[in-house]
Amino acid sequence: MISDKQFVDSHAYIIASPDVERREKKALDIACYFLCEGQAKRPCMECPACRNVLAGFHPDIIDVSRKSDDKGNKKRDIQVEQIRHMASDAYVRPSQADKKVYLIRDAGTMNISAQNAALKILEEPPEYAVFILCTDSAESLLATVRSRCTAILLTGEKLGNESELAEEYITLAAKRDEAKLCTFFGKHEALDTERVGEFVSDVRFCLNSFISLKKKYNNLTREDAFRLLSLCDRADDYLRLNVSAKHVMGLLCVLTI
Ligand SMILES: [Zn+2]
Repeated sequence: MISDKQFVDSHAYIIASPDVERREKKALDIACYFLCEGQAKRPCMECPACRNVLAGFHPDIIDVSRKSDDKGNKKRDIQVEQIRHMASDAYVRPSQADKKVYLIRDAGTMNISAQNAALKILEEPPEYAVFILCTDSAESLLATVRSRCTAILLTGEKLGNESELAEEYITLAAKRDEAKLCTFFGKHEALDTERVGEFVSDVRFCLNSFISLKKKYNNLTREDAFRLLSLCDRADDYLRLNVSAKHVMGLLCVLTI
């Protein structure tokens, strides 16, 4: 989930991590934040807009990625025409939401002319446009591009570790295995606030994938999934109120059982 600590409202983001799945998940979190129709806090991950973003159907999220050649292989670069097309499309108002989000996958593969073509729109975008540039490393982008974006670096974290934790937690919760859940939370009581935030975010992501039928968990019902999602909301609220990470994990342990 989007943690308040690192998230600022901006019109352009760079999400840098060599872990493609992880950075694209973060990109979708941000897209949900801007396109969410929820009344309370954004992103709710439950409203039709959030669900459509996660399912890849939202009309106001536009995917910009490398094209394929005749043989179906991805081209080496995102080409300048694609960025010019994106820039002119950005002047067409969103069709459904208040915002329009451009998700540039592998932004580091924009060649130099493509990056230069992106500068103007990144500098002075229409007020409703948001650009999310996903890349292995921010270094693969020109300094002039970087200076126009808010950077969210996911590097340096243990890749995939949190999602393993989330999987383990959901599996135990589905089995209602009280003893193992206690052991699980005991083992991870020393996680810091940021890691707990990531853990909650990963749990939410897995549960939403389950609800949208993209993932399966034995013994987990939809009611379970919604109940666990509401626990994630509470955990996020507590984290936002600066309740210590250890207490939040303790609460999750007690409430899950
Ligand atoms: Zn929502």
